[in-house]
Amino acid sequence: MALTGIQIFKLLPKTNCKECGVPTCLAFAMNLASGKAELDNCPYVSDEAREKLAEASAPPIRPVKLGKGVREATAGGETVMYRHEKTFYNPTTLAATIPASMAEADLAARLTAWNAFQYERVGLNLRPELIAVKDDGAGPDAFAKTAKTIAETSEFNLILMSEDPEVMKAGVEATAFKRPLIYGATEATVEAFGEIAKAAELPVAVKADGVEALIPLTDKLTAMGIKDIVIDSGSRDLKGSFADQVAIRRAALKGGNRSLGFPTITFPCEMAGNADMEALIAGMFVAKYGGIVVLSEFNTETLFPLLLERLNIFTDPQRPMTVTEGIYEIGNPDENSPVMVTTNFALTYFIVSGEAEGSRVPCWLLIKEAEGLSVLTAWAAGKFSGDDVGIFVKKSGISDKIKHNELIIPGYAAAIAGDVEEELPDWNITVGPREAAHLPAFLKAKVGA
Ligand code: SF4
Repeated sequence: MALTGIQIFKLLPKTNCKECGVPTCLAFAMNLASGKAELDNCPYVSDEAREKLAEASAPPIRPVKLGKGVREATAGGETVMYRHEKTFYNPTTLAATIPASMAEADLAARLTAWNAFQYERVGLNLRPELIAVKDDGAGPDAFAKTAKTIAETSEFNLILMSEDPEVMKAGVEATAFKRPLIYGATEATVEAFGEIAKAAELPVAVKADGVEALIPLTDKLTAMGIKDIVIDSGSRDLKGSFADQVAIRRAALKGGNRSLGFPTITFPCEMAGNADMEALIAGMFVAKYGGIVVLSEFNTETLFPLLLERLNIFTDPQRPMTVTEGIYEIGNPDENSPVMVTTNFALTYFIVSGEAEGSRVPCWLLIKEAEGLSVLTAWAAGKFSGDDVGIFVKKSGISDKIKHNELIIPGYAAAIAGDVEEELPDWNITVGPREAAHLPAFLKAKVGA
């Protein structure tokens, strides 16, 4: 049975040496209890305690690292059924498929196009992580060559898809440096694929005919000493595959079933007749509970909404998204450009900066730390008071960049104008519009544009 954080804490050295990456043994114990840390991160656990803790501290769904480099990702590691209970930790990784026999020029063109599908949003770079190279009978050499080209010439990481151990071996030899996922060991090939994965220290996916049938396969790999496993229940119909995802998550989290405590791989590309339906099915797996979602290809019309959905699902619902406090330039402002101030709630920042950009009036946007609250909430909570805003403006260094002394505050924070003036007696405080949508007209009027 799982131990509580306090029970785990009693078995730790209690020296608070911080080597595990958190400040105290108690914090480490809490992370272990919630599956957010691994016991191996503490080098000082006694053998006796290790034995007691090993079972209890393993995350209910093992986090499995996929790939190397800037698009390295982790699948699994989740600890709750529902996002609102806590948060989901490791965003569903997105893959597109390339047949091993694809011609060199086509492959290069596709990699160039897919690499460009990166989207800046709330200060993050949203992009897919994986390409699944599919053995289409072209032979081991072609499989290895295509996989190697992707590994060497793109940021993408790989899923190697073949049922033939010889083809898989060739692919692994060519791309092991990029830590590809081996897919997929079946009842017939689990030992051969397990050997390949073990020798190259790579994660391996198993495919079975149903959830129950996965258990002997993962048990076999675990007995071989392989820990990084991904599971595919084999279902390719909408209802069945959805039910399998829920059953696997529930079995791992609620039933403590270690044999199913692994991230899943799903295949909308094999479940839909057109790109729109494929995207809808992929969206379902992003929400529940795909560790990896394999699409037939990436195209911007469906990829962007999926990335956005993923961002929303895997954002901690208890912590607002924020941007860093500081001075932000919009459209190459100069010493005469208007200066606005607002809070560090990411949505506020992106709406205000978007409208300011749209106005084509270069300006300075000061972002004040306000615990990620919107203007009205921050003001009501005392996080965007006149004194605080005045002190922040003084310290921000904006005075060194401008020759005027006018500060525009948000319309919803009009009540702080007097206090800001007291803190900044040499400045003129102007109350801006309440709604960001009215900002372009306001800014244009201000500069006479
Ligand atoms: Fe405690 Fe071990 Fe972490 Fe040190 S490394 S703080 S002993 S849990």
